[in-house]
Amino acid sequence: MAGKQQLQHPPHIVLFPFMAQGHLIPFLSLAKLVHQRHPGRYTVTLVSTPLNIRNLRKSLPHDSPILLRDLPFSGVDYGLPFGSENTDSLDYHDIVKLFQASEALKPHLEHLLSDITQREGRPPQCIVGDMFTGWTAVVAKKFGVFHATFSTCGGFGTAVYFAMWLHLPHLHTDDEEFAVPGLPENIRLHRSQLARNIRDTDGNDAWAAFLQKQISLNLQGASGMLCNSVEEVETTGMKLLRKVTALPVWAIGPILPKDGKSSDSRTGKKAEMSLATFVEWLDRQSPASVLYVSFGSQNTIGAHQMLQLAAGLEASERPFIWVIRPPLRFDLNGDFRIEWLPEGFEDRMRESGKGLLVRNWAPQLEILAHVSTGAFLSHCGWNSVLESLSSGVPLIGWPMAGEQFYNSKMLEEELGVAVELERGPDADVTERMVGRVVKQVMRSEKGEDMRRRAARCSEMIRAAVCDGEKQKGASMAALDSFLEIASRAPARGDLKTSVQEL
Ligand code: UDP
Repeated sequence: MAGKQQLQHPPHIVLFPFMAQGHLIPFLSLAKLVHQRHPGRYTVTLVSTPLNIRNLRKSLPHDSPILLRDLPFSGVDYGLPFGSENTDSLDYHDIVKLFQASEALKPHLEHLLSDITQREGRPPQCIVGDMFTGWTAVVAKKFGVFHATFSTCGGFGTAVYFAMWLHLPHLHTDDEEFAVPGLPENIRLHRSQLARNIRDTDGNDAWAAFLQKQISLNLQGASGMLCNSVEEVETTGMKLLRKVTALPVWAIGPILPKDGKSSDSRTGKKAEMSLATFVEWLDRQSPASVLYVSFGSQNTIGAHQMLQLAAGLEASERPFIWVIRPPLRFDLNGDFRIEWLPEGFEDRMRESGKGLLVRNWAPQLEILAHVSTGAFLSHCGWNSVLESLSSGVPLIGWPMAGEQFYNSKMLEEELGVAVELERGPDADVTERMVGRVVKQVMRSEKGEDMRRRAARCSEMIRAAVCDGEKQKGASMAALDSFLEIASRAPARGDLKTSVQEL
């Protein structure tokens, strides 16, 4: 109609993380980053299941521009315990059921895209899916929408993970060590670096079927990859990822929550103590003297390992904060039993002020950022790795699952910022081993060298996310380049030309 202007909706970006804290948190942070860098230029919708959306909503202010949409989900239909919508308290066998159940969200995502298309007069500009939701690339194709896969893991970890699941090289040799097809010959893995699901697969089970399918769908259907890493920190890893995926890869990390909120309010999870209690306790310790011990949002260790770790920590005489959970094979949501720790351990630690034990959940970012924290005994989940390196804190690796084994290898061999304690949930960890490795990291020349290297990583990370008037860090430039390309290259075939043009 003459004189009446057509209202143009901003380009719409739909984010679809897999339902695990280590995926939901960085996807939400990515949404915040897009808005922060380009206020008002995009509509960003993060999609998940009702429980996850409820938790995420709690972590956002009421006036947040990020849209959250929940899709109907019934895990019970896939044999999941009632109410399970993420990996938080699932045991090993249920995680594969959650994977399978997540694919049932496909028609609901299609419905959402139809809604958006109808309301806004065009489909979203782009879908950012997850490495475990390759099927979202199929949905994107159906709607003619640009699709990118956001790997919440590092470049090295993602490259090895993809290559391992696609080729399963350990099934074709009896050797303890083997090369991985698609990766340089000098990168060799040991059988002890295999997570339980890939170690036990025969190539035809539910894990292999699901993961091979999702990885292939991503490689065939995505127009590019975003990686939660820093080009300068992970030079080798990023090269490998480009080689393995044959896709354009933008290193846009570290995508970390940095909104001034405590870790609790970001995730909807609560630590049993206030943040002030942690800070006061840390304030009483000397700089770089405290060991922080945590196995992420979903892992725990065995009962025997817990006793050995406790004894090793006590013998090391270093102050520590340890996030404790019921051991393997017990209900993770159940009460923590006193007999899981050495007799009198908790009282001794409290009375001597040497150890702070916290059940289930701790404000990790704040602990790592505190000047008293000197090392992190970690399962090497990628978010934990990024959070540690961002604070210049070296690591003691005890990888448990997924690509954590490859992260630990890269941190030790490539970056020299970690030393590995042991591998896997069945590891025969002893008090002596714990004592030795804690001493090595916290009281030796090698430990000092690791700390210097971790501090250098922290500087590189700061530079990568710098967003000054004159200078734009590499990760910020990569994100802008991705947004620019997504706006210009809706179809996969156009992408390579667009990348060359820019
Ligand atoms: N986390 C936390 N407190 C805890 C345990 C975990 O804040 O007690 C957060 C941690 O800061 C990180 C995420 O949960 O952002 C865990 O992600 P990661 O990739 O390290 O491991 P995952 O839980 O996926 O195995």
